[in-house]
Amino acid sequence: MVDTKEREKGNETTLIGQEYQQLRDDEKMFRLLCETSNSAFIYYNYKEDRVRTLANWGHFFDFPISDMKDLSRLYDSVEEQYSIPLREGLFIEKQNRERQNFEIRLKESHLCIEVEVNIVYGADGNPTDKIVRFKDVTKLNAQKDELAYMAYYDLMTGLYNRNYFVRLLGEFLRQAEKEKCKVAVMFVDFDDFRRVNDGMGLIAGDDLVQLFGQYLSDLMSDHVVISHFSTDIYCIAIYDPCGARSVETIYQVIKKRLEKPFRLMDGQEVTMTVSVGVSEYPEAATGTLELINCAEIVMFKAKSQGKDKIQYFDGAILEEFLQTVTIQTKLKEVVFEQNFTMHFQPQYVAEDRRLRGVEALIRWKDNKGDMISPAVFIPIAEKNGTIVPIGNWVIEKSVQTYVGWRKKYHYPLILSLNVSAVQCKQKDFIESLLQILEQYEVEPDEIEIEVTETILIEDFETISKRLDELREIGVKISLDDFGTGFSSLSYLKGLPIDTLKIDKTFVDTLLTDVNTKIITESIIYMVKRLGYETIAEGVETEGQFQYLKELGCDIIQGYYLGRPMPAEEIEDLLADLTAKV
Ligand code: C2E
Ligand code: CA
Ligand code: CA
Repeated sequence: MVDTKEREKGNETTLIGQEYQQLRDDEKMFRLLCETSNSAFIYYNYKEDRVRTLANWGHFFDFPISDMKDLSRLYDSVEEQYSIPLREGLFIEKQNRERQNFEIRLKESHLCIEVEVNIVYGADGNPTDKIVRFKDVTKLNAQKDELAYMAYYDLMTGLYNRNYFVRLLGEFLRQAEKEKCKVAVMFVDFDDFRRVNDGMGLIAGDDLVQLFGQYLSDLMSDHVVISHFSTDIYCIAIYDPCGARSVETIYQVIKKRLEKPFRLMDGQEVTMTVSVGVSEYPEAATGTLELINCAEIVMFKAKSQGKDKIQYFDGAILEEFLQTVTIQTKLKEVVFEQNFTMHFQPQYVAEDRRLRGVEALIRWKDNKGDMISPAVFIPIAEKNGTIVPIGNWVIEKSVQTYVGWRKKYHYPLILSLNVSAVQCKQKDFIESLLQILEQYEVEPDEIEIEVTETILIEDFETISKRLDELREIGVKISLDDFGTGFSSLSYLKGLPIDTLKIDKTFVDTLLTDVNTKIITESIIYMVKRLGYETIAEGVETEGQFQYLKELGCDIIQGYYLGRPMPAEEIEDLLADLTAKV
């Protein structure tokens, strides 16, 4: 019996011991939790009416709190505007609430503190315990501020970033719709920014972007928002543009800054220009992104017209752009033999109407069967480089067709080929032309290359050297579209050409406009004296034909004598001609 009792007693002590140990472990754990939480606590027990401070109290406050009246020291330690909210916030039991969160800032340390008040209620509904947690959120708030800043601003320039700009522009548009006013978007892009980025280094580029961005930021107001849109692009949105905030005024302010060089951090100086595109709500577009796109598209127009310019939105520019994009996409899908064919337009000797040669002109039927004019797609192909393979195809296809006629009809013809600048500038241009001629056994003097004036002027040195080489081999060179470009008669002297093609625009008004008459007469006179042959193109009437013949123009090309036609029709023509002989 005794043994059992004793044992029970022993068991009890071990149980109590175990519970005690458990309690101690728990307390240690809670203390650790509190201390490592970077928070401080106030614990208040209503029954005992006792206040204790726990954990990291000393991190926040340099005074103890052991009594409720000590709380007044707490109210004094916060910045003034937080004093009353803190006092009210600590006593939420007055409103029967369980929990509340709010923020305060300490007076001396400027720490930001999140205060969380928890009240525990007993079964009778009365509060039993209160725990107040003080958490240091200074860093967290700073990070939040930084995140908020990054969400709105561009770190490099301090201007708005692209996303926020679009949002603000959206707000402008909503407001403008209500108030029936305009909103302008200016798309501002540095010209030749690569010169700085590639030539002076990325840091110099960043520096420049920053300096100009800072300058622009001074123009910001309630009605003018400015963003650093991407690398070297800035976008400006103007609400109700007028007076000091009109597009023109802002453009002038920008230009004023650009008159002076930018002094970069490493001491280098750089002078820049910008191209600006402008679109306006509601004329150009009504949506934010459309408006920005329109401004960007017309900005490209400003670039293509020589840069350092402002270009206002114009529906025709947009249409041209859209057409270019469509054609670029279609060009990628083109299968040469399937989509391209060559047409040939006959050229006649004015004197006796003898067939002198044919000009090869490309024709493009897209996959839907629509014809796309070379006048439209050749300039686009020149820009994106596709002209090189197209040009090679044209030469080979035309020479091949030409050789077919020659073998069959033995009629002496000159084959005129249009060659664009990009193609002509290719290193292996002459080589590959000669290779084709050799392959099809065609003599160089059976070929005439047509180049435009602009080709020559753009890169006179390279091109004229190349043309000289061609002429030495025996290929004829013809200057196309004469009169539409530079057209100075004095510069004609010494050009590496054999033939000059008087443009259709002269022929058009030859009989109706006295000035054209005089100019054409003198061109033909001069050109003949310089020893070049003349071809008039776009001759559509008997009257034009007769008059040009009288003036001494050598060769005539145009609808009057023959339209561009498929190879088979030229063949019919040759068949007729050779049958007559
Ligand atoms: P271009 O070299 O000035 O060609 C003459 C253009 O005038 C041709 O237009 C021709 O069809 C048109 N034409 C000829 N006679 C008359 C006429 O009496 N009245 C009228 N209204 N038009 C006439 P097309 O074929 O549309 O070619 C346009 C331009 O595209 C050409 O102008 C040429 O610059 C370019 N092109 C055409 N084929 C090629 C090619 O294979 N390579 C290159 N690089 N350019 C080409
Ligand atoms: Ca031509
Ligand atoms: Ca022409």
